Parts: sequence; structure tokens; C-alpha cells
Amino acid sequence: MKIELDLNIIKRNGKIREEENFSFRSYLKWQDSDKIDKIVHDLYSKVLEHVDCTECGNCCMELETCFQKEEIDRLTDELKIDKEKFIKESTKPGEYGEKDKFYLNSMPCQFLKDKKCTIYSLRPEECNSYPYLHKDDFIFRLFGVIQNYEICPIVYNVYELLKRRLNFKYK
Ligand code: SF4
Ligand code: SF4
Repeated sequence: MKIELDLNIIKRNGKIREEENFSFRSYLKWQDSDKIDKIVHDLYSKVLEHVDCTECGNCCMELETCFQKEEIDRLTDELKIDKEKFIKESTKPGEYGEKDKFYLNSMPCQFLKDKKCTIYSLRPEECNSYPYLHKDDFIFRLFGVIQNYEICPIVYNVYELLKRRLNFKYK
């Protein structure tokens, strides 16, 4: 199994294969959801064996970090920092002005040091779940998958291996 880990190649291929990836998305939407989930979960566990997130950290560099209200409470309690000050200085509201979501205004994430999370046990669930490939309903989340394809080596490799497993041919 050839696994690509070079972030530059992954990003470049994300641009080059954009049309192909959207074409595969259209193909996947007509497939059986449970069958695809089973394959994706299998590929995900295989790809994970080759990827070390502590050597990557690209999602923490390229994506906005989102905390739920209770996650902010826990973080500021544990770190013994002023919650209101942290919210004011380090976060911004979501695109839709959600009251219970706080987006860090730093990118890369301010808690990333030397490609590692310095608040690992306090990181938000969204970070913990990323890149979400253990979840069901893969074919209903394909827009996000394509967005993550050029950011996360796990998503990139799973999507490429899925093309091969299903004998997908583009043009
Ligand atoms: S909180 Fe930790 S895991 Fe989440 S983006 Fe920041 S550094 Fe990464
Ligand atoms: S989840 Fe993906 S982007 Fe994030 S550190 Fe792991 S391999 Fe890198």
C-alpha cells in the first residue's frame, strides 16, 4: 500500500485532482451508504498505521479551531486563566454568530507547539474527532471530505484508496 505523507504533494494534488475528486463524489453519492462506510472504516484503520499525527499537525495549522461553551469552561478552569479575557482576546464568533461556539482567532492554533497539542486532554471534541472517518454516513459528508483531502494525509490516502478499491475511472 503506497501511502503519501508529503504535505506539499498532497496540497498540489488537491488542486490538480479537484475535478476528479468532485466526479468521484458524484459517483459515491449513488453508492450504498453502509457498504461505503464499511470500506472507509477499513481503509481508515489501515492508513492510520502509517500516519503519525504528532509528526504532522497540519489540521492544527490549516483549520479553524472551534470550542463549545462547556469546552471553554473546562479549558479556562483547568488552565486557571480568566475566561472572559480569553474569550475576548483569543476567540471570535462563528460565521453564523452561534452563541455557544468559540473559534480561536489564531491560525495555526495557539496551542500547537512543535507540531504537538499542548492541551491534548483539554482539546475540543472537534479536534478529537478529526478527520471524522471513523463516523458513519461518509457519502453524506463528501464536501467536507474533499476540503480535507488537501489538508490531511489520512483523508487524502483514504480517498485515493477508495477510488482504487471501487475501480473508479476518471474520464
Ligand atoms: S486544540 Fe490542540 S488539537 Fe486542537 S487545533 Fe489546537 S493544537 Fe490542534
Ligand atoms: S489528523 Fe490529519 S492533518 Fe491532523 S495531524 Fe493527523 S494526519 Fe495531520
